[in-house]
Amino acid sequence: MLIDAHVHLDKYGDLLEEALRQIDTERIFTVATAMDVPSYLELQKIGERSELVLPTFGIHPRRAAEYADRLPEISRYIEMSPAIGEIGLDFHWVKDTSTYSAQRKVLEYFIAAAAEQNKFVNLHTKAGEKEILHLLEKYDVRRAIIHWYSGPRDILHAMIDFGCYFTIGVEVLYSDHIKAIAKLIPDHLLLTETDNPGALKWLKKNDEIGMPMAIKKVVEALAELRRSTPGQIEDLVHGNLTSLLANDPALKASVITLFRRPLT
Ligand SMILES: [Zn+2]
Repeated sequence: MLIDAHVHLDKYGDLLEEALRQIDTERIFTVATAMDVPSYLELQKIGERSELVLPTFGIHPRRAAEYADRLPEISRYIEMSPAIGEIGLDFHWVKDTSTYSAQRKVLEYFIAAAAEQNKFVNLHTKAGEKEILHLLEKYDVRRAIIHWYSGPRDILHAMIDFGCYFTIGVEVLYSDHIKAIAKLIPDHLLLTETDNPGALKWLKKNDEIGMPMAIKKVVEALAELRRSTPGQIEDLVHGNLTSLLANDPALKASVITLFRRPLT
């Protein structure tokens, strides 16, 4: 089974039907990350339509300032959600430095909850890599997916040593920097993502809507880079997500069953 471990399914608009059709026909297990509360509520509805979609609640660093003073209000969504994401820090693309303390406050609240509720986290780390690693260490959150890593090499290695998983996405098709990172991720920590629908548009500065099928291109690129085959990369990543989800107390039985089946 193909794995897309970081997607914004609620952003597909009119193309949602087609996105869900691709997910089901291509058998793409999809971790559908939220940006904020309305996004999570929408994802919960979408999640009811496919057994392959796992909606998860998080507050994106871009939205953190709106929620920093309302944390008790969102705790029920954290409890409801089987995993946490998208959360993180962004000190690179978010230029308004007045939001940085709110970003830190919101992130720590989520990491503490993830530790207490034993849920895996899906992290955006842009220019906050070191702080994020320290937080994972502080709360001993070992089940972490680092999404679209592009930061410093020393922190990458420290995160690998800590046991973080890494999603490689569509930028591996275009960037030598990301290709180099994709080669450094050890086999047992490799995951795949699209971050669609917006990733291609953002990368190529055009109107291209990224569809779930784009995950196949990511798998093919990884196969070429790692001197493997697309089938072997697919099995490897499926096995890695299975390990990440193993004995997860927060996941519903249907998801666990999905990952107990033999590879398909
Ligand atoms: Zn994202």
